[in-house]
Amino acid sequence: MANIELFNRGGHRNILLEDFDPRGLAVQANQHVVVHGDSAMILDPGGHKIYSRVLSETFHVIGRAKLTHIFLSHQDPDIVAAINGWLMTTDAEAYISGLWIRFVPHFGVDHLVAERLKPIPDEGMIFNLGGAPLLALPAHFLHSEGNFQLYDPTSKILYTGDLGASIGAPYVAVTDFDAHLRYIEGFHRRYMTSRRVMRAWADMVRPLDIEIIAPQHGAYFQGKALVQRFIDWCAQLDCGIDLITQTFKVPSY
Ligand code: FE
Repeated sequence: MANIELFNRGGHRNILLEDFDPRGLAVQANQHVVVHGDSAMILDPGGHKIYSRVLSETFHVIGRAKLTHIFLSHQDPDIVAAINGWLMTTDAEAYISGLWIRFVPHFGVDHLVAERLKPIPDEGMIFNLGGAPLLALPAHFLHSEGNFQLYDPTSKILYTGDLGASIGAPYVAVTDFDAHLRYIEGFHRRYMTSRRVMRAWADMVRPLDIEIIAPQHGAYFQGKALVQRFIDWCAQLDCGIDLITQTFKVPSY
């Protein structure tokens, strides 16, 4: 599989990097790069196993642009484990929820680069990528307690992190939402916190102009119809603590 250009207009590009470990032990993960003019951002760069390949591919796709931002949606190892390497080899600033700032150093962050790891406040923030705005939207409890999604108003792509993630779907873009449900249902029922949070998220993103929903694992949703279907599905899903009482039983011994 090669890199996929999700958007390319007026010096603004959104690239989904080639899958670097599709059948490995580690869960498949997507790395996304946004380039605007001379500046670039990588989203959720990943762990050690793919680090060197993602790094060289990122430099390749951004060309003469400079990596200025690293966006970390939350604290999981498939997102943040190799952050020290990224900070050591670039001048970029990395952003993660303020809740995780003092936990990330457990992955190993040298003092030399520690001040370039910056907190995102609970209410989110707006990044300036070479003049283009990128919005960090609060998406807490979906699934992490300190969790952000990234909305790019130029390309109209909403990067949703673990929300929308699919495991094992044999395609990169969803075409049939109903057929896709089997790849997303179990994951969302267990990992997402509750229907109340899902609905709050749906209410927040419905007014946005979204062409693509791009999760951090598995296939993306392209086109207004699929985007709408996915948001509607989220808004009505019983998940997380809605269902957990069924699981709380002492295992028999
Ligand atoms: Fe996660």
